[in-house]
Amino acid sequence: MTSWPSDVDIAASRPMRPIDQIGERLGIPPAHLFRYGDHVAKVDHRWLEGLPRRADAKLVLVTATSPTPAGEGKTTTTVGLTDALNLLGHKAVAALREPSMGPVFGMKGGAAGGGYAQLNPMTDINLHFTGDFAAIAAANNLLAAMLDNHLHQGNALGIDPRRIMLKRVLDVNDRALRDIVIGLGGPTHGVPRETGFDIVVASEVMAIFCLATSLADLKERLGRIVVARRQDKSPVTAADLKAHGAMAALLAQAISPNLVQTLEGNPAFVHGGPFANIAHGCNSVAATTAGLALADWTVTEAGFGADLGAEKFLDLKCRMAGLRPDVAVVVATVRSMKYHGGVAVADLEREDTAALQRGLANLDRHVGNLREVFGLPVVIGVNRFPSDTEAELDVLRRRAGELGVALQVATHFTDGGKGAADLAGAVVTAAAPGTLRTAYDTDASLLEKVTAVATRIYGAAGVEMSSAVQRQLEQFEEEGYGALPVCIAKTQTSFSADPSLRGAPSGHTLTVREVRLNAGAGFVVFVCGDLMTMPGLPKKPGAERIDVDEDGAIHGLF
Ligand code: ADP
Ligand code: MG
Repeated sequence: MTSWPSDVDIAASRPMRPIDQIGERLGIPPAHLFRYGDHVAKVDHRWLEGLPRRADAKLVLVTATSPTPAGEGKTTTTVGLTDALNLLGHKAVAALREPSMGPVFGMKGGAAGGGYAQLNPMTDINLHFTGDFAAIAAANNLLAAMLDNHLHQGNALGIDPRRIMLKRVLDVNDRALRDIVIGLGGPTHGVPRETGFDIVVASEVMAIFCLATSLADLKERLGRIVVARRQDKSPVTAADLKAHGAMAALLAQAISPNLVQTLEGNPAFVHGGPFANIAHGCNSVAATTAGLALADWTVTEAGFGADLGAEKFLDLKCRMAGLRPDVAVVVATVRSMKYHGGVAVADLEREDTAALQRGLANLDRHVGNLREVFGLPVVIGVNRFPSDTEAELDVLRRRAGELGVALQVATHFTDGGKGAADLAGAVVTAAAPGTLRTAYDTDASLLEKVTAVATRIYGAAGVEMSSAVQRQLEQFEEEGYGALPVCIAKTQTSFSADPSLRGAPSGHTLTVREVRLNAGAGFVVFVCGDLMTMPGLPKKPGAERIDVDEDGAIHGLF
């Protein structure tokens, strides 16, 4: 497939419709669009918030098996499925996350779909778009500046400089900023202390941005962020620093969802983009609910595999926003199933039905969780790659038959929406309304909640943590945070916390290294294993290939 055009070249070759026309498809009056050029607009959140929720609007969750280096294609499938639903005559919109520039300049590349199932204008979307992440960084960093200024101006709140949790953020992979000392240079330059930078998508402000239902809700949540603790360990919040009003002011435009189009001219919201480990990993509630108010079908993606992304989508986002998907699509690929069956990355293109068969344990577990724990109808969407053989696809089809789950092989990457028409048909057939089921009730203790996810979703035997971590949990409960849901940060590549355990490991122990309170977002983060909140660039960063010509055309994005 060396002659296959790159994503950026495919996207550039497709004519785009004026954004007003895309808005019109959803019934958005032009007066409620804030335009960024001809092909991107924000939709006024105040207008959207006034729209009634429709009982008959359908929500489709696109999730996947455990991620492998081969790539699964959730975003690509979300776009292809949206196009296919529109082809079948349904009014469908995609609701996706905004790409972080960390992966764009690093290793993974863009996150606006791929091949003939992409969003446009793909270069704008991938390269700081409408500035939402810059606004989030500004709000976060204003809070950090106000905190350090507070220390400098006499520290009336009694903040313990050794117990400051808030970090500054930046939307570039920059490992040199992970651990730094600030405030050097003498008394006029602030109070020296150790701190560091995270990437924007790992920040609590990002998580809050995506869960807020209005400007008022956003401001309240920002005010609840626990930035530091005093010597007696009592929490100091952003509201104590009187920072939340200005932070919300910086985000007032950003909270309006961004509207773009697919290569086939169908509408897509692209808004917010938290990590799916330390945060909930889904696009904004504002964009998803906008889709449900304006279209018959809203197709949305949750990050990583279903154990991380879908679990958080359901236990955090849906629980908080009162949503429930009508159907879950589990994206699987022949290559990733062979990887889970033990095949080395270099050999993934060689037919190997035995390894594929072994790797299906990973698919079985994810499908079982979605059906049995969360009570969702499931459709398996096989994202076809050129190296897949019919014999291999048959192994997948047979397993789906044994599981009693609909499976469709989709070719949207090469064929656009028509390549996912059968998948869309299966999704329409499988979708069924119901009430949201979660992995735990929030009135359980924090330990019971993390144990429920570990045992019911990850197949773990149990959870272990040091007595220091246990004391921290008890403190959160004493402070009144015990009723919050939990957000587990672990490796995305395995059901366990060991990234090398492929397939569907069972009986392992989930070791909690650290717990963090995200009072503004409204969850307690359990850090299990190594957690990277500021990635580094690889030896050959993607940025080396990216360029812009004299006419402003951007090349080298993939
Ligand atoms: P995810 O959302 O699961 O991380 P993406 O949809 O972003 O995955 O796809 C990951 C990468 O794989 C992208 O570069 C995309 O272009 C590529 N890709 C996806 N599907 C296919 C396919 N069927 N054939 C070839 N490449 C694909
Ligand atoms: Mg994606």
